[in-house]
Amino acid sequence: MLFTKYVITAAVAAVFAVPAFAAETLSAKDLQTASALRDAAQTGNLSYRILESLTTEIGPRMAGSKNDARAVAWAEAKFRELGFDKVWKEPVTFPVWTRGVESAEIVAPFPQPLLVTALGFSVGTPAEGITGDIVRFATLKDLIEAPDDAVRGKIAFIDHKMQKASDYGSVQAGRSQGASEAARKGAVALVIRSVGTDSHRFPHTGMMRYKEGIPKIPAAAISNPDADLVVRMLERGKPVSLKLRLGAENEGTYTSYNVIGEITGTEKKDEYVLIGGHLDSWDLGTGAIDDGAGVAITMAAGEFIKRQGLRPKRSIRVVLYANEEQGLIGGKAYHDAHVKDLHKIQAAAEADSGQGPVVRFSSYVQPAALPVVKQMFDVLAPLGVQAGDNDAHPGPDMGILKSAGTASFGLGLNNEDYFDLHHTPDDTFDKIVPARINQTAAAYAAFAWMAAQSPVSFGSGTDALKALKTVSK
Ligand code: ZN
Ligand code: ZN
Repeated sequence: MLFTKYVITAAVAAVFAVPAFAAETLSAKDLQTASALRDAAQTGNLSYRILESLTTEIGPRMAGSKNDARAVAWAEAKFRELGFDKVWKEPVTFPVWTRGVESAEIVAPFPQPLLVTALGFSVGTPAEGITGDIVRFATLKDLIEAPDDAVRGKIAFIDHKMQKASDYGSVQAGRSQGASEAARKGAVALVIRSVGTDSHRFPHTGMMRYKEGIPKIPAAAISNPDADLVVRMLERGKPVSLKLRLGAENEGTYTSYNVIGEITGTEKKDEYVLIGGHLDSWDLGTGAIDDGAGVAITMAAGEFIKRQGLRPKRSIRVVLYANEEQGLIGGKAYHDAHVKDLHKIQAAAEADSGQGPVVRFSSYVQPAALPVVKQMFDVLAPLGVQAGDNDAHPGPDMGILKSAGTASFGLGLNNEDYFDLHHTPDDTFDKIVPARINQTAAAYAAFAWMAAQSPVSFGSGTDALKALKTVSK
C-alpha cells in the first residue's frame, strides 16, 4: 500500500525527466519505479533486521572457523526466507589461521600489562614469549630507512597514527608489510600502533603478509592509548622492554563458500547486476559494520525489489563473499569461476565500508552509457548523494572484476566513524543506526533496479570500456 502511494507521487516528477532520446535511456516508467523504490525502501528496517539476525545468531565468523560454516548456512537460509529465486554456493579454499592466546606486558622500566592482538597470519611466539627492547619508528618508511644495527635483536614499533579515514591506505602499509621490513634488519618481533581513528583501548587486528626469503617474526597491534603509553615511557630515555606472547598458528586448508542469491530477470536473464558484501569477519567483534552491514544492505536491496512484485529485465545477483579479510580470496574465486562470462555482468558494486549513508555515486562505464548514469544519479541525488567520476572502484572483492574489464559502480559510503570500530571487539550491532543503513539499502535497491533495466550495456568486456581504462590510468 505504501509503495502505491510513492508510485503516484514519483510519476508526476518523472514525466518531466524523460529525455528526448528515450531509446538510449531509461524509460519514464523505470525511473518512476526507481524513485518509488528509493523512497519506500527507506522504511521497514529490513537491512537492520537482517544484520540483527546475522550478528545475534552467528556473531564473529572468521574465515576457516566453526562460525564460518554456520554463517554460510545462515546466508543460504536467509536468501530463501527472503524469497530469492535461486540460491547456491560456490567453493572457496584457503589456508587456515588461528589466533590462540595473546598477551603483552612492559617488563621494564615500568612493568604493566598492555592490550594486544595478533595481526592476521602472524606466526606465534615460543610459549614462553619473546622479550626485547622497543625501538620506535614514526612510519614504515622510517623503519625501512633505519640502519640495521638500530633494529637488530629488538622489537620494532611502528607508531604511525591514523588521523582520518583517508589515511587508511598509507597507515595500513605498516601493518601489512612491517614485519618483513623489520625482520630484514634483524628485529625479533613487530608491534604497531593500531590502524584506527578511535581512542578506545581496543587493538585493531587486520591482515599482514610475509615476504619470501625473510624470516617470519611475530606481528601484533596495540591500541592507540597503549601506543601513547609506550611513547611516554620511551620519552623518559631508558630502554623500554616488552614481553610478547602470541599463540597464533597456521593449520592446513579449509573450504568455505561464496553464497549467492539471485532474482531472475525476464528479458536478459543471463546478464546480471552484481551487488554484495563479504560474509566473513574478523574474530574480535561480531562483524556488524565489517561487513555484516554490506551483507544486510545488498540482501535487503534484492528482497525489496522482489517484494514489490517487480521483475527486472536483467537478473540481480547478490554475492556474499567468503574470506575477504585474509586476502580477497572469495573475490578471486568468483572471478576465476566466472571468467568466461564476465561480459554478462552489467554492473558490479560491493558494499564494504560500513553502514552508510551513501554520499557519492560514481561509475565506470563505456561513454555511450553515461546518459543513463546521469539518470541514475538524478534518482539517487535526493538521498543526499553527490556525483563522482567515471572511474569508480567497485569494492575490494570486485576490484579484480574491474581489472578484468567489468563495468563498475561505487556507492561511496560515509566512513567517518568506520575506523573507530574496524577490526576490533567494538564492531557490534549497537553501533548501527537504522536511518543510515536504510538509506544505503534504498540507494542499492534503486541502483540495482535501474542498472538491470538500462536499455544500453554499461560496457563489460568491450573495447570502449578498455579504452576508458587506458585513459584513466
Ligand atoms: Zn570488509
Ligand atoms: Zn575488514
